[in-house]
Amino acid sequence: PESIRLDRFFSSQNLASRKEFRALLKQGRVTVNQTVPKSADQKVCPGLDRICLDGKEIGYQKYIYLMLNKPPGVVSATNDRSQRTVLDLVPEALFRPGLFPAGRLDKDTTGFVLLTDDGDFAHRLLSPRQHIVKTYHAVLDGPIPEDMAARFREGVTLKDGFVCLPALLKPLSDGERPAVEIVLHEGKYHQIKRMAAACGRHVLALKRVKMGGLPLDPDLPEGECRELLHKEIVKLL
Ligand code: URA
Repeated sequence: PESIRLDRFFSSQNLASRKEFRALLKQGRVTVNQTVPKSADQKVCPGLDRICLDGKEIGYQKYIYLMLNKPPGVVSATNDRSQRTVLDLVPEALFRPGLFPAGRLDKDTTGFVLLTDDGDFAHRLLSPRQHIVKTYHAVLDGPIPEDMAARFREGVTLKDGFVCLPALLKPLSDGERPAVEIVLHEGKYHQIKRMAAACGRHVLALKRVKMGGLPLDPDLPEGECRELLHKEIVKLL
C-alpha cells in the first residue's frame, strides 16, 4: 500500500496546510494508531493506519467535492456537443472522471453548483425525501405583489395546477426591480420562474446563494470553483 508523509495526508484531505499541521502536531491533537507522531514527515498509509484528529478518526477521502460559482450562459449537463457545460469550468488539477453536477441550474441562472464524483452523496442530496433547502436571490420585473410572500408560504399553485411545497419569500430591496430571497424545499424544472409567473412576475436574474447550510463563498469569482473542506461538506446535508 502507498505511504505518504503525514503532513501531506492532512493537506491532501483538505484538513490543514503543512504549517497548520505542525501546530496541530505540537498541540498533541494528532495520533496515528493511538500514538502521538514524532514528526510531520512520518510516513502513513491512508486507509490502513488509524489517523485521528482530536480523537476522531479521519475518514480517507476518496471523492472530490467542488463548489462552482456558475456564470450565466453555461449549461448544467455533463456533456453537450455545442454548448459550454459546468464541467468545462473545472481546472485540470481538480478534474476527475465521473465528476458531475449534483442538481441543475438553468442556463441563465448563476451561483452555487456542487460538483462531485460521489454518487451516493449526490443521490442523498437530491432525493426528494431528504431534499435539502436551497436559497436563491431573484430580481423581479416589478413591485412585489402584496400577497406574494403569503402565497409562497402556503404553497404556490403553478399555472399547470402543480401545488408547490411551502417556500419562504423575503424582500431584500423594493422599488421597480426588487430583489427577493427565496428558500425552496424542492427543485422542479424552472421552479422559481414558474412560481413567480403564477404571482404575475417575471424573474430578471436568479442566483443560487446557498445549499443546505452552506453559503456560496462570497470570495469565489463567477466561473471559478474550489474544493470544499470537510467541515463545509457536512453543512450541505
Ligand atoms: N428555479 C428556476 O426557475 N431556475 C433555476 O435555475 C433554479 C430554480
